Amino acid sequence: MENRLLIVGSVAYDNIRTPVDSVEWALGGSASYAALASSFFAPTSVCGIVGGDFKDSDMARLARRGTDVSDIEVDPAGETFFWSGMYHDNFSSRESLETRVNVYENYVPKLGESSRSAEFLLLGNIGPDVQKCALDSMKSDPFVILDTMDLWIEIANSPLRELVKRADIFVVNDSEAKKLSGERNIIRAGEELLRMGAKSAIVKAGEYGAMLFHLDGFFAVPAYPVRELRDPTGAGDTFAGALAGVLASRGQTGFRQIREAMVTAAAAASMTVESFSSDKLEEAGLGEILRRAEYVRKISEI
Ligand code: AMP
Repeated sequence: MENRLLIVGSVAYDNIRTPVDSVEWALGGSASYAALASSFFAPTSVCGIVGGDFKDSDMARLARRGTDVSDIEVDPAGETFFWSGMYHDNFSSRESLETRVNVYENYVPKLGESSRSAEFLLLGNIGPDVQKCALDSMKSDPFVILDTMDLWIEIANSPLRELVKRADIFVVNDSEAKKLSGERNIIRAGEELLRMGAKSAIVKAGEYGAMLFHLDGFFAVPAYPVRELRDPTGAGDTFAGALAGVLASRGQTGFRQIREAMVTAAAAASMTVESFSSDKLEEAGLGEILRRAEYVRKISEI
């Protein structure tokens, strides 16, 4: 029987300005990016909430490739989560200009029967209270992949630390790993995440790839070499979604399987940065993800 993956996180609209282009009201959010990637690999359900302004075409887009959107609540009187961000200095830094959580204020995730029995759970970037509530509602004892961002490290530090203890894989970027661990060295930071209780940790470093800290050893994967960046938004969520999807599809979660899934995750993330939203990933599809994964494997060999 196939494993099911449940993704909890934000479903959002984004206004983004990059050094080369800008977009308004693009489909974004951690759960959207993750599900649009994971659904290439495993049956996926999404849990989140949107407002009355959420377009039917965007719901249909999320549901493409069979993703179950029945746990996305619609609050007709509310507005969809809104985020706006701007990239500076040739993409080297990002500024969050505005975050309006809107319908996520006081949101309590309600999981259907099938979601509650999913074997894999991706707690995508959203407040730790929402993540905890989803995790506590699970009937199964799922394999848990946890993501977060700097905002939650700042304003919800202790609930986040409690969740880290329950994570099979904690996925964060390099600056978040340093911030949460209090370490300035990236290797020490990764090791500290294991001491905090995560069974394993993946620290992403954008164009430099990602590192895995695991009880069985250390691993690093390079990024797929991208020559033209358009919008890096959602790369981390795509990485986490593809990682979770590949693991769910294989049903095995050992050191070797996580390393293999990281290669595919790096390939998928490289496609997200080449367009706004997940446009490129969806247009180019599975064939291109697998081609890039093969290339990442090739450039990692001696
Ligand atoms: P990433 O580039 O991987 O950090 O993900 C960016 C996406 O996260 C955007 O599509 C935003 O809508 C969404 N986002 C931004 N801030 C938050 C937040 N505080 N909680 C949840 N999602 C967020």
